[in-house]
Amino acid sequence: MRPAHPPGLNVAQCLGQAHGLGLARHDAQLLLLHCLGQGRHDRAWLLTHDTEVLTEAQQTHWQRALERRVSGEPVAYITGLKDFFGLTLSVDARVLDPRPDTETLVEWALELLPAEARLRVLDLGTGSGAVALAVQHQRPHCQVSAVDVSQEALEVARANAQRLNLPVQFVHSHWLDKVQGRFDLIVSNPPYVAEGDPHMPALRHEPRQALTSGPSGLQDIGHIVAHAPQYLQRGSWLLLEHGWDQAQAVQKLLSHAGFSNIQTRQDLAGVDRCTGGCFDSER
Ligand code: GLN
Repeated sequence: MRPAHPPGLNVAQCLGQAHGLGLARHDAQLLLLHCLGQGRHDRAWLLTHDTEVLTEAQQTHWQRALERRVSGEPVAYITGLKDFFGLTLSVDARVLDPRPDTETLVEWALELLPAEARLRVLDLGTGSGAVALAVQHQRPHCQVSAVDVSQEALEVARANAQRLNLPVQFVHSHWLDKVQGRFDLIVSNPPYVAEGDPHMPALRHEPRQALTSGPSGLQDIGHIVAHAPQYLQRGSWLLLEHGWDQAQAVQKLLSHAGFSNIQTRQDLAGVDRCTGGCFDSER
């Protein structure tokens, strides 16, 4: 005889189950809205439908989503979407899960680009396209280019640009190797985690190539700083995201490469997150 089907869980019970498994409340809400086919911003729906019972298919979907999240997979990969600087991006395991910390980089870039500017901007290591698309969205007259060495990442970024109808130009290149011309601003959120970093196991679902950069985490930042001056107009800025303990090292790299006016900015958590400098010397 088949066992009686267990009674279906309702919305409130699902959220309770997630809480019991240690999931953050916002993560659980996003996952449940996704499994129920509700709008991802409609958290109020969950409150007004707390006694609604899931169908069998929804419940299967929900249990699978919970398992994936408990195993450390980013919510963005499970739902396929991530909000970044007012845009909803499609993301999956081909690209880094865009972090809110990176909005610091975008904010700084926007401060350097007047609203009506028609300047050339370059984003190095664009991944999902997050930074380039956010800048292009906020500064429609700028000419934004973005590079990545991963063809798979470029597929994700191009699809986002197309869906959001933003005219970013994508180039397949290892950093600046295939880039031509000079820019009025270069921004980058490169890989910067040290290879032996104890946090790497927690980031195992994301592309390693987008995260680690040599034993100190500074290999790619060093490369970018060394080559960027040939691609910057005089008086233009290079802005880099980096790890919480790398500000001083990045400042030193920039200063050795001839940058001036070097500054570091904190993210919303108050952590040193971006360092940049202006290239105005003759080299
Ligand atoms: N901020 C990410 C982390 O430490 C790393 C992103 C990156 O390497 N660019 O989880």
